[in-house]
Amino acid sequence: LNRRLDGLGTTIFAEMSALATATGSINLGQGFPDTDGPRGIAEAAARAVLEGRGNQYPPGPGIPELRTAIAEHQQRFRGLAYDPDTEVLVTAGATEAIAAALLALLEPGDEVIALEPFYDSYAACIAMAGAVRVPLTLRAPDFRPDLDRLRALVTPRTRLLLLNSPHNPTGLVLSPDELAAIAALAVEHDLLVVTDEVYEHLVFAGAHHPIAALPGMRERTVSISSAGKTFSFTGWKVGWVTAPAPLVAALRTAKQYLTYVSAGPFQYAVAEALRLPDAYFEDFRADLRRKRDLLAHGLTSAGFRVFNPEGTYFITTDITPLGEKDGVEFCRALPERCGVVAIPNAVFYDDPEAGRSLVRFTFCKKDEVLQEAVSRLARI
Ligand code: PMP
Ligand code: GLN
Repeated sequence: LNRRLDGLGTTIFAEMSALATATGSINLGQGFPDTDGPRGIAEAAARAVLEGRGNQYPPGPGIPELRTAIAEHQQRFRGLAYDPDTEVLVTAGATEAIAAALLALLEPGDEVIALEPFYDSYAACIAMAGAVRVPLTLRAPDFRPDLDRLRALVTPRTRLLLLNSPHNPTGLVLSPDELAAIAALAVEHDLLVVTDEVYEHLVFAGAHHPIAALPGMRERTVSISSAGKTFSFTGWKVGWVTAPAPLVAALRTAKQYLTYVSAGPFQYAVAEALRLPDAYFEDFRADLRRKRDLLAHGLTSAGFRVFNPEGTYFITTDITPLGEKDGVEFCRALPERCGVVAIPNAVFYDDPEAGRSLVRFTFCKKDEVLQEAVSRLARI
């Protein structure tokens, strides 16, 4: 392993999901639903396979039907107009979009300011690009970004702001005022913004506001989303980018040599999913909000300090009230102690001390699974 990837070993998600399988535990670690997305959308994928649509290499940027559906979705939900031919790119999940963006846009030595705790692939991709990550640390209890601190982090080497809202793992949703301040800074210093919005449809308090819609932002913003979260098909790995044509062209160049193209038949199905009526998106959010409340209540009763998330399908907790200090040790022992798997937030920090006593649970699981997990946790 080269020095750039030193210390990046095995992702925490692989480690903890393997532990869940080995111990037969309830897996509230890795964020994937235990119920598949709409049956009609699964049938659309099956039909595409059987009818021979997408079984051979599809077009590199994505099939036209899906690029059009992505552009329509951005218009319908965000009021943003993108040209499906030049301003949309289909990727192998949001993960590839993040990789393509960072590999295509960064020079070695460039500084990237990212909200910390950061989703694990950010650190890896910044490292693979030879760039330098500069964390803007979000702190309990409310995890709001310190905008003065952000301003102070900008240097002549800063090239890009890497945002994530709704934010994994804290559940923070950037407010209109925060977005406006970040946008003003990006314009002032001529920075690029890559914004990971995979949880855009999972906002429980307030609303999701796309930073690309703010003055001066469209031309410098790469917006990323994914079908995995919104339609509960995380295994399909269909993601996308919307950005101005020169940025999409740059990402397309990188994507050509990462995966060349994304899996064909799923693209037809996701094109249908993006056109589902508003009721689908509303019901999805309402269902997850109910699950959030169920898990938050259960964790509170079990003695955790719960930071109620405004968005995503994760709850961050503090284990200090349980007499515990170290989230990594706690999560390694939890399957043996009570048959539940969670993720230690410390792995999302450069400075593990900052998230030492924080532990993340996902609530994208059946109600009875959440109830059983909570009753097990209440016994520790
Ligand atoms: N970004 C964030 C913030 C995530 O939580 C995840 C994981 N679902 C991804 C990106 C990766 O998304 P995908 O599975 O579409 O690659
Ligand atoms: N995004 C999901 C999470 O944060 C899992 C994705 C992954 O396993 N890479 O749990």
